[in-house]
Amino acid sequence: SLGWIEVICGSMFSGKTEELIRRLKRAKIAQLRVEIFKPASDTRYHDEDIVSHNQNSIRSTPVLSASEILLLAGDCDVVGLDEVQFFDESIVEVANSLANQGKRVVIAGLDMDFKGIPFGPMPHLMAIAEYVTKVHAVCVQCGDVANYSYRIVDKEETVLLGETESYQARCRACFQASI
Ligand code: ADP
Ligand code: MG
Repeated sequence: SLGWIEVICGSMFSGKTEELIRRLKRAKIAQLRVEIFKPASDTRYHDEDIVSHNQNSIRSTPVLSASEILLLAGDCDVVGLDEVQFFDESIVEVANSLANQGKRVVIAGLDMDFKGIPFGPMPHLMAIAEYVTKVHAVCVQCGDVANYSYRIVDKEETVLLGETESYQARCRACFQASI
């Protein structure tokens, strides 16, 4: 039987990693074989663990490219992927192949970059997924629902690894007011 794809998306600090870890830990409790991958470029907290902002963590395998995931996922039941916006478009085929092999694929990633533009392969993944969950942060300026990752440092590159020193979760009004 075929598997399926789940996407967890939202801004920075919205709880994507927390939700990913929650789902994967439950799969482990259900005795399913779980493999977790993240882009090797994302080493903000730890080389191998996936760590949420509230310090929850789970062991993962850092990979240099999407194709490595196909080789390493082997005969597991559930594949978890974090920070998926950093992979190139080939992650779409990889996710489809894994699901077609019968695996449950749980993907977490930023849906928009700091300019509010859809991030890398995420729009494509959201389109092909059976289930999409959008989670939200709290706007640090006004407390409303935050949908955007506002960059507070003056750098233009799309990929800038960082945390509270570089980014703030902001609602539509507070994001618009400062761009
Ligand atoms: P993401 O993976 O989406 O960046 P995490 O799952 O790592 O998010 O972290 C979510 C946690 O971040 C929250 O449970 C909370 O403890 C913390 N946090 C820090 N700043 C904010 C914010 N502005 N809005 C919501 N949660 C925040
Ligand atoms: Mg995260």
